[in-house]
Amino acid sequence: MALKVQKYGGSSVADIDHIKNVALKVAKAYDNKNDIVVVLSAMAGITDHLISMARKAAKSPSNRELDVLLATGEQTTAALLAMTLKDMGYPAKSLLGFQAGIITDESSGKARIIDIKADRIKRLLNKKNIVVIAGFQGNTLNGDITTLGRGGSDTSAVAIAYAVNADICEIYTDVNGVYTTDPRICNKAKKIDTISYEEMLEMSVLGAKVLQIRSVEFAKKFNVPIHVKSSFNEEKGTMIVNESSYMESVVISGVTCDKNETRITLKKVPDHPGISAKIFTPLADAKIMVDMIIQNTRSDGRTDLTFTVPTYDFKKAKEISEKVCKEIGATEILTADNIAKVSVIGIGMKSHSGVAATMFKALASENINIRLISTSEIRISCVIKAKYAELAVRTLHTAFGLDSKKTIDA
Ligand code: ASP
Ligand code: MG
Repeated sequence: MALKVQKYGGSSVADIDHIKNVALKVAKAYDNKNDIVVVLSAMAGITDHLISMARKAAKSPSNRELDVLLATGEQTTAALLAMTLKDMGYPAKSLLGFQAGIITDESSGKARIIDIKADRIKRLLNKKNIVVIAGFQGNTLNGDITTLGRGGSDTSAVAIAYAVNADICEIYTDVNGVYTTDPRICNKAKKIDTISYEEMLEMSVLGAKVLQIRSVEFAKKFNVPIHVKSSFNEEKGTMIVNESSYMESVVISGVTCDKNETRITLKKVPDHPGISAKIFTPLADAKIMVDMIIQNTRSDGRTDLTFTVPTYDFKKAKEISEKVCKEIGATEILTADNIAKVSVIGIGMKSHSGVAATMFKALASENINIRLISTSEIRISCVIKAKYAELAVRTLHTAFGLDSKKTIDA
């Protein structure tokens, strides 16, 4: 007997048949003597549809009204699931965000949860109700409806799990869990049984396809165990939990590839104190996230400075860099957008040596040139030419012993 929060994503509640399937799963967990809180997304495609209607209605729809509109997607599925369960003879009750006591700040469209007053949920659970909550939405202290940003119902689920002190937060989706790499790139990718919050955060390029990364940050902060699994079969999925010592026996948990960065090089930057601050302060002021930075020292008192920025910020970053370039007397700017960042991630890196060497050797064996390198305690990333990205991922997956014996259909 456990207290479980079960969150079902849009594809799991895509229509009435799917909602009936969810109801069966919820009922089964309830019959097995668990207390159940269900958190739902809107039906697949509905949030997009609502946004497109809003854009047809108004040139720039008010954020406040947009939240009122978008929250209806989750209101629909919560009501439908609760009535389905009742029809099956189960005591279920739906709650909207404000009824569930979810209090957020005022930032419409990307609100942050500031508190959950879970008394009503707890009262309903005590009376053996199945509590069905509309995800993705909350309420400001002024009583306005807010939404938490796209994919936000994962964060609703984790936050509710924390507020009711649940034993587990189960995230039901349309994939079997988190994989060692993108199965579309490498058909030997395998499902990870258990992964730490930190690894999951570092694997955000991979992980974001499965759940909103913000929900993992939340879970890490409050130590909420997450189980990501498919709602279409009974297989065990991936557990996302706190780091534990046995995890270190696995050196590398995953290989990721990110093609959304662009490289900027400032040539012949004068090499004296304060120059880096002059370059990076205006970028920070413009809220541009600089990822990798590398500085090559030259013999003539000047250096070449290279860094990467997200491609969607590239134009802005280039304009800023051009200005700075003139101010500090650097000679020219070079840019490259045909790059990819491949990374290996694993808690085990903390206690194993030679991970970087294995990575470099593997890339060299395929003649892949490394342009930039960066590391964290549990990640090593190399920037390479984009056209080699897939080959690099497969090569690293094999080099770190991650290939599964059987291949899965990509
Ligand atoms: N329905 C919202 C979205 O599509 C929230 C969610 O599904 O998590 O982004
Ligand atoms: Mg989602």
